[in-house]
Amino acid sequence: MSDANPYAMLLEPVQIGPVTARNRFYQVPHCTGLGHLRPRADAAVRGMKAEGGWAVVSNQETEIHPTSDLSPYAEGRLWDARDVPALWLMTDAVHAHGALAAIQLVHNGNHAQNLLTRAPVLAPSEMSVDMTHPKQAQAMDKADIREFRRWHREAALRAKDAGFDIIYVYAGHNMTLAQHFMLPHMNQRSDEYGGSLENRVRLTRELLEDTHEAVGDSCAVALRFAIDEMVGADGMQASEEGRAVVELLADLPDLWDVNVADWSNDSATTRFQPGDGYQNAFLSHVKQITRKPVVGVGRLTSPDMMLSMVKKGIVDLIGAARPSIADPFIPKKIEEGRIDEIRECIGCNICVSSDNLGIPIRCTQNPTMGEEWRRGWHPEIIPPKKSNADTLVIGGGPAGLECATQLARRGYQVTLAEASAEFGGRVAKESKLPGLAAWSRVVDYRLIDLKQRGNVQLFTDSRLDGDQVAELGVEHVFVATGSHWRTDGIGRSTQRHMPQIEQTAKVLTPDDIMNGLLPPDGPVMIYDDDHIYLAGVIAEKLATAGYQVVFVTPESLVSTYAVNTLEQPRIQARLIELGIDIRCNQVLTAVKGDIARIGCAFTGRETDIPCASTILVTERHRETALYDSLHGIGLKTLELIGDAASPGLIVDAVFAGHRAARDFERPKAEADKDWFRREIIDLEET
Ligand code: ADP
Ligand code: SF4
Repeated sequence: MSDANPYAMLLEPVQIGPVTARNRFYQVPHCTGLGHLRPRADAAVRGMKAEGGWAVVSNQETEIHPTSDLSPYAEGRLWDARDVPALWLMTDAVHAHGALAAIQLVHNGNHAQNLLTRAPVLAPSEMSVDMTHPKQAQAMDKADIREFRRWHREAALRAKDAGFDIIYVYAGHNMTLAQHFMLPHMNQRSDEYGGSLENRVRLTRELLEDTHEAVGDSCAVALRFAIDEMVGADGMQASEEGRAVVELLADLPDLWDVNVADWSNDSATTRFQPGDGYQNAFLSHVKQITRKPVVGVGRLTSPDMMLSMVKKGIVDLIGAARPSIADPFIPKKIEEGRIDEIRECIGCNICVSSDNLGIPIRCTQNPTMGEEWRRGWHPEIIPPKKSNADTLVIGGGPAGLECATQLARRGYQVTLAEASAEFGGRVAKESKLPGLAAWSRVVDYRLIDLKQRGNVQLFTDSRLDGDQVAELGVEHVFVATGSHWRTDGIGRSTQRHMPQIEQTAKVLTPDDIMNGLLPPDGPVMIYDDDHIYLAGVIAEKLATAGYQVVFVTPESLVSTYAVNTLEQPRIQARLIELGIDIRCNQVLTAVKGDIARIGCAFTGRETDIPCASTILVTERHRETALYDSLHGIGLKTLELIGDAASPGLIVDAVFAGHRAARDFERPKAEADKDWFRREIIDLEET
């Protein structure tokens, strides 16, 4: 640490109960979709954060008992002593790099459906389970509460055995029993655990006391607390009961980890919450009430913001989940004055979607995330070149940019040719749409890196054809020419019955809109068979520009895939607020003149919509013409990557570019032998 470092304050140690964090960088608990099902992979994710300089590295919510069974999701599990060895993997990996390991113990109450265990669901009062599973929870009686406290205490002891330094009591995200008891709409009890706030907080107080008593001699006891439900006077507010909870528990936890609920508010996307530090207003008074250290989050990627939060006394520790996923090495980079090298989270929540889908974590910005153990990938280190081969990457979208960046880091000579006037491909275009500005970080991070390297030549306005590639004489070519939106209306809902689209109909695609074309005056119908963000942001753009927009989708929700990124309700609300006419469960059947015909997805009953134009957001055609033309020219490497190989999300394109660069000149047999290491179930009886 150097005093000349303007961020030196962020590198100061912080005492947390009986343990000391070496600096102020704190990776708060976050899910990985790995959890108890893939413990080696999870341990490697956490170990990488420790290597990257985080002082505290937490795991994800960790079920303490079979009555809190989050199956089929892969969270942490510590039901009994047999779960301890898998957690040693993580604590060893974290300790190996000098960081503290934290565990987020949880009982999820009615948020757990207990689908694996078939155990009764527990809650403060009678109520349905939190998800759509048709099942109800039973109100806990006093004996149940005593049992719950015993489970929590025993789990804390097991967590200590597993090597954790910080042990959480978790009252957040509207997903845990401790918080459920605090919330009047979930707690209608008339005993000493219900009614007054003091009574509703009693259980959390007892859990904190129990945990201190069990493990407090050597482990810090943290409280993760959702101070505001973000529903105004309808729920807990930071300025009212949220503050009162902090006053009631003040110095009882060794650490306050404070955030907002529910998860969609805590992990808000940049589309709906553009600024980092967006939770500061909810946190700012906590430190005035407690003498214990406070950690807060809010998609903190800017060192200046971090510093100002510490200087202003908002927090003692800089909490991060997503920023630490996008760049596990933020602390090291700040320590070493490499601010430009920070790979900033773009707030797209693809990482969150992994957990919601029950698959290993992935990240748009950091293609190595989740691949540390199974593929042996490191976010900062890539094997050096194997030869002095020259490489050519054609197409400067996310796939081409990432491929070029990693080839250059390996030390190869790299030429990157882009047809248009700017780099970025779809990202450059999409980031100009409403709410997606932060996505340009995908381009910026890579271009900044590429421009600093002497072994890279960058060309825009360079649409290459087969002859030009042959003339260049580079024998190793990666083709990342992307894709374009189709105009015939074919998509997943219309595969069997292609829509009848008259030649004269005014049909546009997202490419047209992103290229600056506007529909003619009059109503515009947007048909979304893509189901994530694009159709919604185009609708928003056009409605804001004064168009009358009809949004048609064969799904029963707008942007239904965005359920996984926690954005769906916000998207639908925004379109409604913009006065957009939303037609769900409707399939496009024809566009004739100024009429679009749609049919009910269930009955087929047809309706006509008057519209001056139609925007089709259905599927994409891959741009493979150049690739096809290069087969006969004797190249030693010819690889099609990104959307040109398989149109998908930006995260997929970045991953494809990264993998191609890593696998370049890797013996094919080795690359093909196993795709990645697997954690195979042990058949030994337990
Ligand atoms: P991906 O997501 O796979 O990176 P994109 O569509 O975002 O794909 O980017 C592909 C890029 O390739 C676009 O910027 C496009 O202009 C560029 N491109 C397409 N064909 C050529 C070509 N023949 N020569 C150079 N660049 C090309
Ligand atoms: Fe950030 Fe998106 Fe990566 Fe998640 S997936 S960490 S939101 S860039």
